[in-house]
Formats: sequence, structure tokens, C-alpha cells
Amino acid sequence: MYQNPDLHCHSHFSDGTLSPSALAQMAVEQGVDLWALTDHDSVDGLAEAQQAAQALGLAWVSGVEVSVQFLGETIHIVGLGIDTQHPGLLALLAANRHCRIPRAQAMAAQLEAVGIAGAYDGAMRYCQAPELLSRTHFGRFLVESGHCANVAEVFRHYLTEGKPGYMPPAWASLADGVTAIGAAGGLAVLAHPARYKLDALQMDALFDAFTQAGGRGLEVSTSAHHPHEISHYAQQAQQRGLLASCGSDFHSPEESRWRLGELPPMPAGLVPVWSALPISAD
Ligand code: AMP
Ligand code: MN
Ligand code: MN
Ligand code: MN
Repeated sequence: MYQNPDLHCHSHFSDGTLSPSALAQMAVEQGVDLWALTDHDSVDGLAEAQQAAQALGLAWVSGVEVSVQFLGETIHIVGLGIDTQHPGLLALLAANRHCRIPRAQAMAAQLEAVGIAGAYDGAMRYCQAPELLSRTHFGRFLVESGHCANVAEVFRHYLTEGKPGYMPPAWASLADGVTAIGAAGGLAVLAHPARYKLDALQMDALFDAFTQAGGRGLEVSTSAHHPHEISHYAQQAQQRGLLASCGSDFHSPEESRWRLGELPPMPAGLVPVWSALPISAD
């Protein structure tokens, strides 16, 4: 079985800075032995990712990170082993991407109102298309223009609820996102569960809604999780009968604390998500 899988990262097809080929190269150099590229709401980098992985003899599985909403909170669902041509999933991803354009315009208008001009064009300098604009691209602009020292500081002062530059998104519902991944033959994984601003009751409701919609996996080991959170969500995976996943959520060498393949190993006794995945180039 795999010793060092990394099933969550981003390329320049969403808010990462590297190409899928460069990520595949880094994965191999870092000792990753099973890899998935999971761009936000886009599968456009997957053909290049698969080709690069194949050329390097790296085991690969298709992936995407779908933005959804639940109880007013943005939740991320990683879909692994998806059919990248599935019309229903592609339609849902396209709708999510489409809502990024008016959202980005509203974010820029808010920033302008607090004296930060040119944010839309500034963010676009880091982005391939308006429909891919994310808060990360605005964050890079705010750092480059000297308003913040780094992207972490950006999210403390801007772009989050109650701060300038926050615009409530209009993502697909949790149920629709999870269902679309399942319909495309994929396995839905609840990403970085410790990141959500939900209390214990709301987290319970999230798990229930996720599993009722067909969700099957839980990200246990990821760069957003402290060691005690890894233990907590390992227990949750066991108690709730969910398959355990792990991924660095790597975005860029300059911004990400952990590179591909630098995750702590998952606690023992979990059923790994890759036991249920169709993996190519094994
Ligand atoms: P969006 O899809 O436009 O809502 O942007 C979400 C992205 O912003 C995430 O995938 C992260 O890459 C980034 N992000 C969100 N919160 C933070 C944070 N506190 N620090 C750094 N990056 C963040
Ligand atoms: Mn991101
Ligand atoms: Mn995420
Ligand atoms: Mn991610």
C-alpha cells in the first residue's frame, strides 16, 4: 500500500502558483507515492496532471475541490476518482466558477471604498481567468501592493466575514455538491474539517448532511490541522465509518508552510480512502 499519499493541492488552474507538471515533479522529489491535484471548482488541470504523473511513474487519481455552502458557511468537498467529463459535475463546477466574477467585482468595490484601488485588475494579474478569481488572488495583490505583509495577515484584516472585501458567495448546496461527485463516480471527502466556524452541534449536522448525501471520506491529516485535531478527526472517521484521507493543501512554495508530501502520517487503525479509489499508473 501507499506510504506517502498526498491527495489535496492546487495548481495555477485555481489559486496555486505552479503548473500541474511542476507539482507532479515536486511530488516525486518529495517522496509522494500517490497524488491527486484538486483545484477549486475546476478540472482543467487534470489532463496535464495525469500526463505528468504517468511520465514520472507516479500513481495518480483524479480530483477536484468543490466549494459548497451549509448553514451559511463555505465548506470544501474534495472529490476523488471522478469522471472528469461527467456533464452534471461539470455543470455544477461551471456554475460555481461563474459566481466568482460578480463576487470578485463586489470584493474590489468594497476594497476601493476603504481606499484600496485597482484590486480587481491587481488580483487578475495572478489569475488565468475572471471565473477563477479567488480570495487568494486578492490576497497576493494586497501583499504586493504593500497593504499587508503576507497572505495570512490579509485574512486577518480583509476578505473574511465582517472585514472589508468580504462578499458572501453563492456556491452550490452541500447536498448538490456531494451528490454531483457521487454521480460522477467519485468519492466525496470532507476537507479540513477543523477550519469551519461551526459549533459541535452544527458540526454534527454537517457530518449527518454530508453522509446522507453520499459523502464517504474525511480529511484527517492536512496542513490546516494541529496534531490534536488530527487525533480528533481520526476518532471521528472511525466513529462515523468514514474513509480517512490526507493532503497538504499545497498552494505555493512562498506561501504554504508544508510542501507536498510533508504531512504527518495518519494515526493507525483508519481505513484509508485510497483503498476505495481507482488508481492509474500503479
Ligand atoms: P475562495 O474560494 O475565493 O473563497 O478562496 C478560498 C481560498 O482562500 C482557500 O482555498 C485558501 O487558499 C485561501 N484562504 C482562506 N482562508 C485563508 C487563511 N486564513 N490564510 C490563508 N489562505 C486562506
Ligand atoms: Mn485555495
Ligand atoms: Mn479548502
Ligand atoms: Mn484546498
